[in-house]
Parts: sequence; structure tokens; C-alpha cells
Amino acid sequence: MRFLDEAVVTVRSGNGGRGCVSFRKEKYIPRGGPDGGDGGDGGSIKVRASSRLRTLIQYNSRKFFKAPNGAPGRGKNQTGKNGRDIVLEVPTGTVVADQETGEVLADLVRDGEEFFVLPGGRGGKGNQHFATPTQRAPRFAQPGEPGREMRLRFSLKSLADIGIIGLPNAGKSTLLSRLTTAHPRIDDYPFSTLVPNLGVLELEDHAPLTIADIPGLIEGASQGRGLGHRFLKHIERTQLLLHVIDISAHSPDGILESFMILKHELEAYDPALLRKAQMVLINKIDLLGSCRRDLLERTGKALSRAGFEFLAISALTGEGIDALKEILSKKF
Ligand code: GDP
Ligand code: MG
Repeated sequence: MRFLDEAVVTVRSGNGGRGCVSFRKEKYIPRGGPDGGDGGDGGSIKVRASSRLRTLIQYNSRKFFKAPNGAPGRGKNQTGKNGRDIVLEVPTGTVVADQETGEVLADLVRDGEEFFVLPGGRGGKGNQHFATPTQRAPRFAQPGEPGREMRLRFSLKSLADIGIIGLPNAGKSTLLSRLTTAHPRIDDYPFSTLVPNLGVLELEDHAPLTIADIPGLIEGASQGRGLGHRFLKHIERTQLLLHVIDISAHSPDGILESFMILKHELEAYDPALLRKAQMVLINKIDLLGSCRRDLLERTGKALSRAGFEFLAISALTGEGIDALKEILSKKF
């Protein structure tokens, strides 16, 4: 699946139909009164959130949306038909902003939640409305109001409870597939994950938890290096961050250092991210032979000293995963 989490579209509401100039034509009455109907209203523009959608990819190919105009009024006081409203569907979690000013207009988080963007132009009044005692045969009617146009920026921020972050290859996608039924791509390539994968963790007697696997953060991600930066916004709404660290790739000092790199990247992106609950997962402990188990112990000590909660796991073999689920069910 290709993924798109930002899109800019132009929307235009429909013009109102013009009012009609018309006079009654009746037998034996040579000059009937005015009977020009009103124009219909132009279609309006709305945005609606849908939990069926996962990406904004549909706005990659189509970027202009215009609601139909209202039909003109007709004789015999007939009002023109209103233009249809246009509803743009976006995934739940989409923030709608005015592209010109940057102002956030709506944050659509619930399925079916709607935001009214632009009203259609009002239909013009027909000449039936303009008859007065001195002007009994008005030969004018109102034009319809023009529709309005604006540019919208859609920005998708995943609605996950938990974010899994870590350097490329740490085992984030493997962990997600362990905890949930999601099937993210897993391979030995640092940037195998090009999209934030979402999965749902079902715990006994517990509401389901949504987990997002955020593609590899690397040093400099917050300055736009690599892919991490583009995806950091997907953890803005999470309540807990799980930092996955590959123990086989680092010495104990190296582990602390790689954790600091991640923390620094988060802080540079948005200091508020550091206020979220965090936990370190020391992954790939199956790779530690018995003689290297002391590495784990030293790493644990270093993390405790620095004040971090941690757990040793193997996303591959499942070791420590039940303990992790237990901890998660207590935290939520
Ligand atoms: P990501 O880049 O953080 O998403 O990492 P992946 O989940 O794609 O994993 C990268 C590589 O590490 C893959 O070859 C995985 O099979 C492997 N891997 C992940 N977790 C473990 C683990 O606990 N033990 C071992 N031995 N390998 C793991
Ligand atoms: Mg991955």
C-alpha cells in the first residue's frame, strides 16, 4: 500500500443559480404579474472522517473539487434545484487547515465527524419578490451569489495509543507483528518500513489498544534526514512511547547513547513528546549467548541509573512479550 499523510486540495463551492424574470401568462389576462422563481443554492463543501480510510492517497491524483452550481429559477414561481454538496472523505485523525494562513480548522478524530468548509452561493431571488405598488412588473431578478474557493491542507496524524520508535533495524515491525495481528514488512534493511504501520493489541478484559510502528528514526531526523521526521507527527497523539533498542548492535554505553539520540530527535521535533510516558525495550536478547548475559545486566543498571523503565525482550522468539503485555494492560 502506498501511503500519503499530507495533501493539499483546492475546493470551490457552487454558485447560486440566478433568479428568474418571468410574468404570468394566463388566458384573458394580458399582463400577468411577475412569477419568476428563485435560483437554487450552490452545493457546499464538507470534509468527513472515515475510519475505513488509512491514507490520503486519493488526494494525490485528484486535487480540485467543485460543488455543482444551483440551477436558475424558472417561470411559474419554480425554484431552481440546489447543487449537490460535496463531501471529501479523509481518514480519522486528519487535521484540516487553511493552506494560505496555516490556521487549523478542524481535527477530525471520530468516525463520521464532519467539518463544514464552505457554503454554496445562495440562489438569487426571482422577480416575484420585487413587485411593489409602484413597480408592478419588475424586469429584474437577483443574480446568484458566487461560490467560494479555498485551499485546504490535510495532515494525517495517526490515532494510536502507543508508538513504537527506535533506530532502523531495531525490531520495531517485528514487535508490532508480535503484539498485534498487523503484518508489517520485516527485513534486514534499515528502511524497510516506509509507512507507519498500525496494529491493534487485544488484551483480556481491556479495551483494544492501537499501536503505531514509526519508521526508523536516525540521527538528524528532526532536521529532515532520513524518513523519521515525516512520521514523527504520528506519535504526537500517543500516550506511551516504546523505545526499541537492538542489544546486539551496541555495548551498554552504546545503548544508552542510542537511546539519547532518539530522545534528542524527539525533543528537537517537539519537546512535548518527552513528557509522554516512555519505556525502553531491550530487544534481540535471544542473540546474547549465556556468556553475554552480563551485558544485559550492565545495560539494565545503566538505564536504571538514568531513571528509565525498561524490559528485556525478544520480538523474534517472544521472550518477555507476555510481561510486556502485562505492563501495557496496567498502564492503560
Ligand atoms: P525495524 O526496522 O525496527 O522495523 O526492524 P524489523 O522489525 O524490520 O527487524 C529488523 C531485523 O531484525 C529483521 O531481520 C528481524 O527479523 C530482526 N529481529 C527483530 N527482532 C529480533 C529479535 O528479537 N531477535 C533477533 N534475533 N532478530 C530480530
Ligand atoms: Mg520496520
